[in-house]
Order: sequence, then structure tokens, then C-alpha cells
Amino acid sequence: MTEAIAFVGLGNMGGPMAANLVKAGYRVNGFDLAAASLETASANGVMIAASAVEAVKDASVVITMLPAGKHVISVWSELVKAVQPGTLMIDCSTIDVESARKAHMLAKEASCLSLDAPVSGGTGGATAGTLTFMVGGAEAAFARGEPVLQKMGKRIVHCGDSGAGQAAKICNNMILGITMAGVCEAFVLAEKLGLSHQALFDVASTSSGQCWSINTYCPVPGPVPTSPANNGYKPGFAAALMLKDLKLSQEAAAAAGAETAMGAHAAELYETFNALGRGGEDFSSIINYFREQSQKTGEARG
Ligand code: NAD
Repeated sequence: MTEAIAFVGLGNMGGPMAANLVKAGYRVNGFDLAAASLETASANGVMIAASAVEAVKDASVVITMLPAGKHVISVWSELVKAVQPGTLMIDCSTIDVESARKAHMLAKEASCLSLDAPVSGGTGGATAGTLTFMVGGAEAAFARGEPVLQKMGKRIVHCGDSGAGQAAKICNNMILGITMAGVCEAFVLAEKLGLSHQALFDVASTSSGQCWSINTYCPVPGPVPTSPANNGYKPGFAAALMLKDLKLSQEAAAAAGAETAMGAHAAELYETFNALGRGGEDFSSIINYFREQSQKTGEARG
């Protein structure tokens, strides 16, 4: 009989990830609280279970893709009571390191293997099966989980023990928040100095200013046709999710005693942007906020 995988959390990311497991030939038993997510998943070949506990009944691998740490702990607390010892539990949500380590403990107490395996690559990567997985957990758990993760992603990196995947994810996204804010500032300054977007792009994307935020995800329309700037700043990666990840990085920095002044400032900027009701815009749209602020500064100076 085909190996069964339980998938709990079939939203924007989990839905297409579960669909890729179906395409790869697994029997996928799915559950979500939202009827719309269940409908889409069912159309993609996922067998819909009546509850999360029902979904894991005959599964040898359980995957969760949920909004935050509290959801993961609540769902895992139930599931560890229902799974067979030896089951591999994988959480792919982006959550705080502390909750990730707690989830590993819950699995260990139930004699299960476990991995924290947050992703990068967004909904496009989830659909195309090209996600990057940053994985934390024991060697034996990784060896069992890697072939499953390969069906949903193109790069699977074992970052270390429990929580190391989440640690890598929040460090990476702290860099992303900082570099995007920096690139946006540079474009606004260039506009003020009369330098064209294309000229700044041609120089910075091939010089020491190069980074993903400019080379691949340029926040102004034109230079990189696939970036959200060319599509009215429709996400992509929503500013609300960037704020979530920056907050996680700052919680982790406070708990670990790390000085992250740039990360703290990026978190403040995205907090302000979200408070303006713009959390649904792509995170590169913060360039529009910087432009508006510059306009106000210019007007104040007369
Ligand atoms: P989403 O809100 O679309 O999906 C989450 C799903 O979990 C929802 O369908 C919700 O109904 C379901 N859910 C919540 N509590 C549940 C419970 N107790 N039982 C069953 N289902 C439950 O969110 P998403 O965009 O799919 O993101 C999921 C995770 O992936 C988040 O942690 C997010 O930070 C991370 N992530 C998202 C992106 C992205 O671009 N969307 C990229 C990388 C990582």
C-alpha cells in the first residue's frame, strides 16, 4: 500500500505543498479548519479527513503548515497522542525557536521523530515545488524526511539540531527585511538626485550593492520584469508576513542576548507600514512609504 502522509494546514502554502505530494504518488490525508482550503485540496487529490486526529490515523509522516507557534503547539499536543511511535512529525510553519523546540519535545515524549522545516520561496515556490527547506532535527529524522521534502522543494538544507531550521529562517528573513529597506531608500535617494532607476539598477546589481532585494526582487517597475513592483505591488511576500518574521527575529535576539540594531529598525519600519493598513501589499511596497515620507520632508522644508 502507498505510504500515507497527513497534512494539517492546507492554506496558501500548505495547499500547493500537499498537492505536490499527491503528484509524487503519496496518499495524502489532509485537514484544515477552513472549508475553502479543504475544497481546493480535495480538487487536487488530497483525501479530506474529519479532523486532524483522523488525518494522522494511518500516516507514517505528519506535516503541519500553520500560522504561528501557538497553533503548532496546540495541534501537535493532540496529534502526538494519536500517532504510532516512530512516526516522523515535520512542522514547516515559520514559528519562534522556543515553540519549535517545544514541539520537538512533544514528539520525543511520544517516541516520534521530528523536524522543524520552515520554507523560503513563497506561494510560487510552493506551487512549483521549488521551495528551500531549512531543517532542524536529529540526523535519523532528517534522513527519513529528506526524500519527502524533496517532492516539495529543490533545496533541502540540514541546519543542525532542534530549532536550527527556524533559527536559519529568521536570520535569513532579518537580512531580507534590512536589505529591502536599504534598497528602497537608495532608489528614493536616486530619484531625488535625478538618477534613473535603470542606471542605479545597472550599477548596483553588478557592484557591491548587489543582493536579492535588488537583483531578483527590484522594488521599482522595469529593471526586473517579474518583481511585484511591475504588478501593482501585489504579493509576492506580504508586508504583514515580513513584519511577523522580523518580530520573531527580535524576540529571538532578546532571548539570546544578540545586538540586532538594524533588524530592530527594520521591524519598526514594517510595524509603521502595517499600522497604515498596508500589510496586504508586497513588502517591497515600503518604497512607496519612503517616497511619501520624503515628499513630506521636502514640503516641510519649503
Ligand atoms: P494561511 O493562513 O494561508 O494558511 C494557514 C492555514 O492553517 C489556514 O488555512 C488555516 O485555516 C489553517 N489552520 C489554522 N489553525 C488550524 C488548526 N488548528 N487545524 C487545522 N488547520 C488550521 O498561511 P500560509 O501563507 O499558508 O502560511 C503558513 C505558514 O508558512 C506561516 O507560518 C507563514 O509564516 C509561513 N510562510 C508563508 C509564506 C507565504 O508566502 N505565504 C512563505 C514562507 C513561509
